[in-house]
Amino acid sequence: MYEQLFVNYETRVMKRDLLETEDYLRSLRKVSQFLYVAKIKKDSIYDIDSLRELDYLYSKLIENSDFMKANIESGSKYLDAVEVYRTFCKGSLLEKYDIDPSILDCECPIKEESEFSIIPSQVYDKINVNQVLKLAHYKCDIDDEHETPNYLDTGHASMEVHYLIPLNVQPYVANSLDVYANILCICPSCHLHLHTGPKIDVRNMLEKIYIDRANRLKISGIAKDEETFWNLIEKSGEYF
Ligand SMILES: [Zn+2]
Ligand SMILES: [Zn+2]
Repeated sequence: MYEQLFVNYETRVMKRDLLETEDYLRSLRKVSQFLYVAKIKKDSIYDIDSLRELDYLYSKLIENSDFMKANIESGSKYLDAVEVYRTFCKGSLLEKYDIDPSILDCECPIKEESEFSIIPSQVYDKINVNQVLKLAHYKCDIDDEHETPNYLDTGHASMEVHYLIPLNVQPYVANSLDVYANILCICPSCHLHLHTGPKIDVRNMLEKIYIDRANRLKISGIAKDEETFWNLIEKSGEYF
């Protein structure tokens, strides 16, 4: 599930040329084969959800002598590719540069309504959630001047994530709602306000975010226009 996002990142953010990117993809396919043969992972290294899972796979790889041998024979290409992929997943470079988040969005054609059964969780260890916080440089998507204390001593402001179109309406949307364009980085006070504030305030906040994100939501195949957006918002019952 992270393969196309990784390609977008390498080519659009890192400005890597296609040949070099394909080289990484080839190596990562080999890595996935190793994980499969060693009975560590059935699908591929892209089919992960959390950073913890990625760290687990990494530790299994480096303690596997067959893999380490093959890696040396490859001129360390395999481990290099894994490192590049880990850097992408951890989002460390996303935080360093000023990147327009929309360049990472995956283009998805709008489809008709259909069943989409997997409702993702929004834990902070989740790869895309963590990447969104870094892309936003831990600044509130409602207003980047909003300041929050750093309770956890993490070196950055305490920010929260919020799914703009709530995940409970996933059954009505054919493409995944669990994408960058639909994840907000917001300060705890805006978050509370969004969930419990007076209807008029919440509507204004949503309106503002929609205007900012309309194109990204469309490109990601989630909401083709404003009417669809508000229909989904109403249907979710999460805001009012
Ligand atoms: Zn929320
Ligand atoms: Zn805020």
